[in-house]
Amino acid sequence: MQPARHPRIVAPRSLEGPGLYLHIPFCLRKCPYCDFFSLPAEPGLLTAYPDLLIAQLEIEKRSHRWQGRLSTVFFGGGTPSLLSPDAIGRILNEADRLFGLSAEAEISLEANPGTVTLDSLSGYRAAGINRLSFGVQSLDDAYLQRLGRIHTAADAHSAVHWARKAGFDNLSCDLIFALPDQSSQAALEDLENMLRLEPQHLSCYGLGIEPGTPLAQALEDGRLRPATEQAYADTFLRLHARLAEAGYEHYEISNYARPGRHCRHNLNTWRRQPYLGVGPGAHSFCARNWGERRAVPADFDRFVETVSAGLDPSTVLETFQREEAMAETAYLGLRCAEGVNDAAFSHRFGTTFAEVFEQAIKRCGKHLSLQDGHWCLDLEGWLLFDHFITDFL
Ligand code: SF4
Repeated sequence: MQPARHPRIVAPRSLEGPGLYLHIPFCLRKCPYCDFFSLPAEPGLLTAYPDLLIAQLEIEKRSHRWQGRLSTVFFGGGTPSLLSPDAIGRILNEADRLFGLSAEAEISLEANPGTVTLDSLSGYRAAGINRLSFGVQSLDDAYLQRLGRIHTAADAHSAVHWARKAGFDNLSCDLIFALPDQSSQAALEDLENMLRLEPQHLSCYGLGIEPGTPLAQALEDGRLRPATEQAYADTFLRLHARLAEAGYEHYEISNYARPGRHCRHNLNTWRRQPYLGVGPGAHSFCARNWGERRAVPADFDRFVETVSAGLDPSTVLETFQREEAMAETAYLGLRCAEGVNDAAFSHRFGTTFAEVFEQAIKRCGKHLSLQDGHWCLDLEGWLLFDHFITDFL
């Protein structure tokens, strides 16, 4: 088994300043596997929503919780590509006016291939978006149908083609594997087709069965057969091998990038850098003291009422003590190929990683090692992440 961390993997340094996450909780149709907070995309809501987000940005500015210019911006959802380029441009201008936007900021937008045109993508580029993350999921129409997606493989090809024409040179595609009744070989073929799109970044997620979703019900009723753990592990390893061969760096359990094309927004969250989340269902992380996580409840009406009254819609979800901050540093860091920086951990917490997690480290055995001053899990360790990480928490 190859170690997950490869000496070539040098993830970009984080810029100073917080990230900004904007949750766009609208979808044209609910996918049967999804348990994210999203609502039907009614035109009136889409029109009104940008002002509500801007209102929350103003409230956050007054809170004095956020210092420095924004280093990254991420429009996530839901389906952010349901907002018009004008709306996206207006939100970005307001974010810049209120907080300042770093000149090198990575500004990402998640886009559903079934909702974009050459015009809309050109508009997003002109509005300041410099990275697109396409929810392709599969390039096999039979799987797309089973996943309840609104787009086809041909839509995904057009979307990527248009994005390049619109001037985007930083594209990510999502791939879902371990689908019901999908063999490892079929997942590999799906990946092969996706590689032909030549994305700079790929997120490869094993399909999660979320309780309460129609997919969970279908599996319970025996209408579908879930992928076995063995099939999941086999596919995970084969995807890794193929992507490594194709020159992608496996920099986080589910994420691969061409050198230097890592998603800086997500890297910052795994590094426990501060980020501000706006919109119902969004989370924020303030790094002061040992850290504080805040959340805006996933309740649209309450969000409208609160921000319209000029009140802060976010509440404290968790105030970290030192021990919890150490545990979360391990939880987030070990997901990443760069691992946990041993010296930075000692400097921050006044104790060593080896001392604090002595028992957990022992239980990881050969799957966890200190390489070039970083504690890293190997590939098999990533496969067993949920099992190993409980000891750190
Ligand atoms: S488009 Fe994305 S957010 Fe919307 S229902 Fe489907 S998976 Fe969930």
